[in-house]
Amino acid sequence: MKRAIYPGSFDPVTLGHEDIIRRAAGMCDELIIAVGNNKAKNPLFSLDERVSMLKDVVESYDNVSVDTFDGLLVDFAAEKDAKIIVRGLRMISDFEFELQSAQTNSALNPQVETIFLCTNAAYSFLSSSAVRETGIFGGDVRGFVPEVVSDRVARKMREIYESK
Ligand code: ADP
Repeated sequence: MKRAIYPGSFDPVTLGHEDIIRRAAGMCDELIIAVGNNKAKNPLFSLDERVSMLKDVVESYDNVSVDTFDGLLVDFAAEKDAKIIVRGLRMISDFEFELQSAQTNSALNPQVETIFLCTNAAYSFLSSSAVRETGIFGGDVRGFVPEVVSDRVARKMREIYESK
Protein backbone atom coordinates (compact mmCIF):
# COMPACT_ATOMS: atom_id res chain seq x y z
CA MET A 1 0.00 0.00 0.00
CA LYS A 2 1.57 3.29 -1.12
CA ARG A 3 0.25 5.96 1.21
CA ALA A 4 1.44 9.51 0.58
CA ILE A 5 1.01 12.82 2.36
CA TYR A 6 0.65 16.16 0.62
CA PRO A 7 1.30 18.79 3.31
CA GLY A 8 0.77 22.52 3.05
CA SER A 9 -0.96 25.59 4.37
CA PHE A 10 -3.54 25.74 1.56
CA ASP A 11 -4.42 29.32 2.56
CA PRO A 12 -6.46 29.04 0.33
CA VAL A 13 -6.32 26.00 -1.97
CA THR A 14 -5.47 27.04 -5.55
CA LEU A 15 -5.69 25.49 -9.01
CA GLY A 16 -1.97 24.69 -8.64
CA HIS A 17 -2.66 22.63 -5.50
CA GLU A 18 -5.60 20.91 -7.19
CA ASP A 19 -3.36 19.90 -10.09
CA ILE A 20 -0.75 18.40 -7.74
CA ILE A 21 -3.50 16.56 -5.83
CA ARG A 22 -4.91 15.04 -9.03
CA ARG A 23 -1.49 13.90 -10.26
CA ALA A 24 -0.30 12.60 -6.87
CA ALA A 25 -3.57 10.72 -6.33
CA GLY A 26 -2.90 8.90 -9.61
CA MET A 27 0.51 7.76 -8.38
CA CYS A 28 -0.33 6.29 -4.98
CA ASP A 29 -2.97 4.09 -3.37
CA GLU A 30 -3.92 6.66 -0.81
CA LEU A 31 -3.21 10.39 -0.54
CA ILE A 32 -3.67 12.33 2.67
CA ILE A 33 -3.76 16.10 2.32
CA ALA A 34 -2.30 17.40 5.56
CA VAL A 35 -3.25 20.96 6.41
CA GLY A 36 -0.72 22.59 8.69
CA ASN A 37 -2.12 24.20 11.82
CA ASN A 38 0.81 26.56 12.14
CA LYS A 39 -0.44 29.68 13.92
CA ALA A 40 2.91 31.39 13.41
CA LYS A 41 2.01 31.62 9.70
CA ASN A 42 -1.01 33.72 10.66
CA PRO A 43 -3.33 32.26 8.05
CA LEU A 44 -6.10 34.33 6.48
CA PHE A 45 -8.47 31.37 6.24
CA SER A 46 -9.13 29.45 9.45
CA LEU A 47 -8.08 25.82 9.74
CA ASP A 48 -11.74 24.79 9.47
CA GLU A 49 -12.26 26.88 6.34
CA ARG A 50 -9.14 25.45 4.67
CA VAL A 51 -10.09 21.87 5.53
CA SER A 52 -13.68 22.33 4.42
CA MET A 53 -12.64 23.83 1.06
CA LEU A 54 -10.16 21.01 0.43
CA LYS A 55 -12.79 18.40 1.29
CA ASP A 56 -15.07 19.87 -1.34
CA VAL A 57 -12.24 19.95 -3.89
CA VAL A 58 -11.44 16.23 -3.39
CA GLU A 59 -15.00 15.00 -2.94
CA SER A 60 -14.95 12.92 -6.12
CA TYR A 61 -11.68 11.11 -5.26
CA ASP A 62 -12.01 7.72 -3.55
CA ASN A 63 -8.36 7.63 -2.45
CA VAL A 64 -7.87 11.18 -1.13
CA SER A 65 -8.63 12.40 2.39
CA VAL A 66 -8.00 15.64 4.27
CA ASP A 67 -6.46 15.82 7.74
CA THR A 68 -4.62 18.36 9.90
CA PHE A 69 -1.30 18.31 11.72
CA ASP A 70 0.45 20.68 14.07
CA GLY A 71 3.69 19.00 15.06
CA LEU A 72 6.54 17.57 13.04
CA LEU A 73 5.52 16.35 9.60
CA VAL A 74 7.59 13.16 9.97
CA ASP A 75 5.72 12.35 13.19
CA PHE A 76 2.41 12.81 11.38
CA ALA A 77 3.69 10.58 8.55
CA ALA A 78 4.70 7.87 11.04
CA GLU A 79 1.33 8.12 12.78
CA LYS A 80 -0.41 7.58 9.42
CA ASP A 81 2.08 4.91 8.31
CA ALA A 82 2.89 6.99 5.21
CA LYS A 83 6.35 6.73 3.63
CA ILE A 84 5.98 9.38 0.93
CA ILE A 85 5.75 13.16 1.20
CA VAL A 86 4.62 15.00 -1.93
CA ARG A 87 5.59 18.60 -2.58
CA GLY A 88 5.20 20.83 -5.63
CA LEU A 89 7.98 22.82 -7.27
CA ARG A 90 7.23 25.99 -9.20
CA MET A 91 10.57 27.69 -9.67
CA ILE A 92 14.19 27.59 -8.60
CA SER A 93 13.41 29.70 -5.55
CA ASP A 94 11.10 26.94 -4.23
CA PHE A 95 13.94 24.45 -4.56
CA GLU A 96 16.21 25.93 -1.92
CA PHE A 97 13.61 25.71 0.83
CA GLU A 98 12.21 22.39 -0.37
CA LEU A 99 15.63 20.70 -0.52
CA GLN A 100 16.47 21.78 3.01
CA SER A 101 13.11 20.69 4.32
CA ALA A 102 13.27 17.30 2.52
CA GLN A 103 16.77 16.68 3.86
CA THR A 104 15.75 17.64 7.39
CA ASN A 105 12.80 15.27 7.21
CA SER A 106 15.06 12.54 5.85
CA ALA A 107 17.53 13.08 8.71
CA LEU A 108 14.67 12.82 11.20
CA ASN A 109 13.19 9.74 9.56
CA PRO A 110 15.14 8.08 6.70
CA GLN A 111 12.14 5.84 5.98
CA VAL A 112 10.22 8.77 4.58
CA GLU A 113 10.95 9.90 1.00
CA THR A 114 10.00 13.31 -0.35
CA ILE A 115 8.99 13.41 -4.01
CA PHE A 116 8.51 16.57 -6.04
CA LEU A 117 6.02 17.18 -8.79
CA CYS A 118 6.85 20.03 -11.16
CA THR A 119 4.16 22.61 -11.57
CA ASN A 120 1.89 22.52 -14.54
CA ALA A 121 3.12 25.45 -16.68
CA ALA A 122 -0.36 26.95 -16.63
CA TYR A 123 -0.13 27.40 -12.86
CA SER A 124 3.54 28.15 -12.35
CA PHE A 125 2.77 31.75 -11.27
CA LEU A 126 0.07 30.68 -8.87
CA SER A 127 0.45 30.66 -5.10
CA SER A 128 -1.90 31.11 -2.16
CA SER A 129 -0.12 34.36 -1.34
CA ALA A 130 -0.76 35.67 -4.89
CA VAL A 131 -4.45 34.86 -4.38
CA ARG A 132 -4.49 36.66 -1.02
CA GLU A 133 -2.62 39.70 -2.32
CA THR A 134 -4.91 39.98 -5.37
CA GLY A 135 -8.03 39.67 -3.24
CA ILE A 136 -6.91 42.05 -0.51
CA PHE A 137 -6.63 44.79 -3.13
CA GLY A 138 -10.03 44.04 -4.65
CA GLY A 139 -8.89 41.88 -7.61
CA ASP A 140 -10.90 38.96 -8.96
CA VAL A 141 -9.51 35.73 -7.55
CA ARG A 142 -12.06 33.36 -9.06
CA GLY A 143 -9.81 32.23 -11.91
CA PHE A 144 -7.08 31.19 -9.45
CA VAL A 145 -8.96 28.70 -7.30
CA PRO A 146 -11.04 25.56 -7.96
CA GLU A 147 -14.56 26.43 -9.08
CA VAL A 148 -16.18 24.59 -6.19
CA VAL A 149 -14.60 27.03 -3.69
CA SER A 150 -14.43 30.18 -5.83
CA ASP A 151 -17.54 31.83 -4.32
CA ARG A 152 -16.29 31.23 -0.79
CA VAL A 153 -12.80 32.56 -1.47
CA ALA A 154 -14.09 35.57 -3.42
CA ARG A 155 -16.64 36.42 -0.67
CA LYS A 156 -14.02 36.33 2.08
CA MET A 157 -11.55 38.40 0.06
CA ARG A 158 -14.29 40.95 -0.72
CA GLU A 159 -15.17 41.24 2.99
CA ILE A 160 -11.53 41.91 3.82
CA TYR A 161 -11.19 44.41 0.96
CA GLU A 162 -14.35 46.28 2.01
CA SER A 163 -13.41 46.35 5.70
CA LYS A 164 -10.13 48.16 5.01
P1 ADP B 1 3.48 25.75 2.40
O1 ADP B 1 3.05 26.90 3.24
O2 ADP B 1 3.81 24.51 3.18
O3 ADP B 1 4.49 26.04 1.33
P2 ADP B 1 1.45 25.84 0.38
O4 ADP B 1 0.00 25.65 0.65
O5 ADP B 1 1.89 27.21 -0.02
O6 ADP B 1 2.15 25.32 1.68
O7 ADP B 1 1.94 24.81 -0.71
C1 ADP B 1 1.84 23.42 -0.51
C2 ADP B 1 2.65 22.73 -1.58
O8 ADP B 1 2.06 22.97 -2.85
C3 ADP B 1 4.10 23.21 -1.71
O9 ADP B 1 4.90 22.08 -2.02
C4 ADP B 1 4.06 24.16 -2.87
O10 ADP B 1 5.32 24.23 -3.53
C5 ADP B 1 3.03 23.48 -3.75
N1 ADP B 1 2.40 24.41 -4.66
C6 ADP B 1 1.77 25.56 -4.35
N2 ADP B 1 1.34 26.19 -5.47
C7 ADP B 1 1.70 25.41 -6.51
C8 ADP B 1 1.59 25.51 -7.94
N3 ADP B 1 1.02 26.57 -8.51
N4 ADP B 1 2.11 24.51 -8.69
C9 ADP B 1 2.72 23.46 -8.10
N5 ADP B 1 2.88 23.31 -6.77
C10 ADP B 1 2.39 24.26 -5.99
